[in-house]
Amino acid sequence: MSEVNRREFFAAGAAFLSLAAESELLAGPIPAGMPEEPKADLIAPDIYFHEGRVADDADAVCNNGWIVFEDYVLVIDANFPAGARIIISKIRSMTDKPIRFAFDTHHHGDHAYGNQVYVENGAVPVAHTGVVEEMKRYETGYYDDKPGRWEEAAKERADVKTSKLKPPSVLFSKDLFFDDGKHRVELMHLGVAHTHGDAVAWLPKEKVLFTGDVCVNGPYNFVGDGDVGQWVATLEAAKKLGAETVCTGHGPRSVASVLDDQQAFFKALREQVGALMAEKSPEDAKGQIEAIRATLKGNAQIARYVAEREAGEDSFTSQIAKVYEELTGKKLATFMNERQFARHAHARSHGLALV
Ligand SMILES: [Zn+2]
Repeated sequence: MSEVNRREFFAAGAAFLSLAAESELLAGPIPAGMPEEPKADLIAPDIYFHEGRVADDADAVCNNGWIVFEDYVLVIDANFPAGARIIISKIRSMTDKPIRFAFDTHHHGDHAYGNQVYVENGAVPVAHTGVVEEMKRYETGYYDDKPGRWEEAAKERADVKTSKLKPPSVLFSKDLFFDDGKHRVELMHLGVAHTHGDAVAWLPKEKVLFTGDVCVNGPYNFVGDGDVGQWVATLEAAKKLGAETVCTGHGPRSVASVLDDQQAFFKALREQVGALMAEKSPEDAKGQIEAIRATLKGNAQIARYVAEREAGEDSFTSQIAKVYEELTGKKLATFMNERQFARHAHARSHGLALV
């Protein structure tokens, strides 16, 4: 090793160690009996990732990120109101810079219901225009007088009950850039995927991608509001960005291959439903669900995306039903809604079967 290389090597090592030390510090002690305490990771200078928990009783459900710019902080995803408070307090423990923007990757409660908390703390919710269009579709309690998803969530979550829906008010139709010369974050709508209004946050300098639920890392795909066929194409666009670190909407932080794995899961799902179910009536097609589950579980690249079988309609059945409808125009079963999906995920996380 030459002297210059040696010096560079040790400098890089020292930088890594200080990152690791800070990251550990941020994670904080894990209280006894709470193995799933959310933690914050420093993934590059000024860039943080915080892993949530997919469970009904969790405060911070979705994954979050934040970028400390020269003059302000941009947060990726608002989370639920309780999650928003956790993230704000963690940011406050590390910087006095104002939290100016909360970017909603999409309209779902676990990503956007904390907007009001951010507004109360001086931030503005930012999103793709599709987020507001989706809210107009599902948040009928806010836009009309018919109870919608917020009201449904408020029945089970005190933090939702005591806050209120705040749609994003800084909107972009294609992309929006934050760039202070040191850091650059590009918010981009890459197409329909998990919803009709998804956007990702791309950091070209650090090659970090925050995907929202366009990509997850585990059995967390809720497909009811999106389009699985278009999702495959949107993931292709995400892959072209050239990310090295991928922070998904749910599940552990990952690398570029998680985009391939997520896409492979949907491709396999579409191929299997097309081959085994598309020519069949809904009644006959249902008989193929377990065979498809077993086939996908047997594929090591995508096995972690396949939900376990549960009593009644499980999330895998909902995914199959959605793809069957996309391919045939026929309904297989009622789709699970997001609350049901979260409850199933909760039960799974505790190893419970649903009744
Ligand atoms: Zn979602």
